[in-house]
Formats: sequence, C-alpha cells, structure tokens
Amino acid sequence: MNVILIGAQGSGKGTQADLLASELGLPHVSSGDLFRQAMAEKTELGLKVKSYMDRGELVPDDLTVAMILSRLAMPDCTGGVILDGFPRTVAQGQALDEGLQKVGKQIDLVFYLEVPREELLARLSGRYICRANQHVYNINTRPPKTPGVCDIDGSPLYQRPDDTGEAVQRRLDIFFGETIQLLDYYREQGKLVTVDGNHSIEQVQKTLLDVIRGK
Ligand code: ADP
Repeated sequence: MNVILIGAQGSGKGTQADLLASELGLPHVSSGDLFRQAMAEKTELGLKVKSYMDRGELVPDDLTVAMILSRLAMPDCTGGVILDGFPRTVAQGQALDEGLQKVGKQIDLVFYLEVPREELLARLSGRYICRANQHVYNINTRPPKTPGVCDIDGSPLYQRPDDTGEAVQRRLDIFFGETIQLLDYYREQGKLVTVDGNHSIEQVQKTLLDVIRGK
C-alpha cells in the first residue's frame, strides 16, 4: 500500500506518518528528513539544497524527484510506503506516478490533513524536533517528559531554523498557493480523502487507520 500524506507545515502530517508507519510496518519516507540528513552529512545533495531550505523555498523538482525515486527503489519499500512532504507540486506528482508506473506500482491513497492557517502558526511556533531521529514535540501541546530531551532516543531537541521568522510564512504561502493544487490532481484520480486535522493526534490517527483498513 503506497500512501501519501498532504498537509501544511504544522498540520501534523509528520507525526501521523510516523505513527502510521509503525502501525502498518511500512517505511516513513519524508523528503524534508532526507534533505536534513543530507545536509547533516554534508553530501553533495545536502550542500545543494541548504540555501533553499534555509529560505523556506522548495528545492528544485529534478533534485527532489531523483532523491525520492531512488529511496523508493530500496528493498524496504517493496511492500509499500508512507510518503510525507512529497509530492508538493503537480509536476512532482506526475513524475512520481510515472516513476511508479515503470516498476508496476501506483499510489493507492492520498490523505489531506486539513488545518486552519491560524492554528498552523500557533503549532509551528512551539515545535521542537530531536537531533537524532526528528521526533516531533510541541512545548505547548505535546512537551517531552524532560525539557529539551527526546523521550524516545534521549537526543537534544532543537527548533528548526525554518520554523521561525519569514521562512514560516513563505512555506505556508507555498503550501496554500502551490501544493494545494495537488488536491485536484488526486481528487480527479479518485484517491483523495480529506481528514479534519484539527483534532487530537490519537483521533486523527484513528480516522486514518479506519480509512486504510476499510480499503
Ligand atoms: P515542512 O513540511 O514543515 O515545510 P519538511 O521537513 O517537509 O517541512 O520540508 C522542509 C523543507 O525541505 C522545505 O521547506 C523545502 O525546502 C524542502 N522540501 C521538502 N520536501 C520537498 C519537496 N517535495 N519539494 C521541494 N522541496 C522540498
């Protein structure tokens, strides 16, 4: 089962993708995490994408699509995948469909986690992630047991540089201006399910699992 989660920054899609992945035993493939990992390891890709990410701009499609398709070709993705943060443009969606078609696969289900913009800004201002594995916390709504430390792996928590200042507004503008067009793309394919993301993590997770299990 290949599932895509679409949602604005702060919609909770990374958290939901993580939970779904462990519940279903599928890999969680996040384009943002792959880029951050490449930057931390200072690979050629990491050096190329840094300036885009710091400004909150999209990384060019050719780099992004190539990175994701090579990740999807790895053996752990054979049984399916939970995609988070990719695709983000209609061109990426088309490239993904073409890439999957070549290997006899397809996207089965696309969720849109809908959350109002004011709520997104409130959530982003409190968001912290862990250095080791990008586990997500929120100092207002979902704090770690020990301040500044990840409950799961003990690594330090930090605020993403693109979660502050102008980069946040820029990312939300791109989402509501551009990524939102993907909803029509998948609606026309009959794959889109819109979920109200303005509920608790547990409630949203239950809704997603009910839809997946009902398929
Ligand atoms: P968020 O969804 O909160 O913006 P991500 O971790 O998914 O966070 O992405 C962080 C940054 O990584 C984006 O602002 C962008 O620079 C880059 N990025 C991630 N996914 C894509 C994508 N599919 N296409 C282009 N750039 C991307």
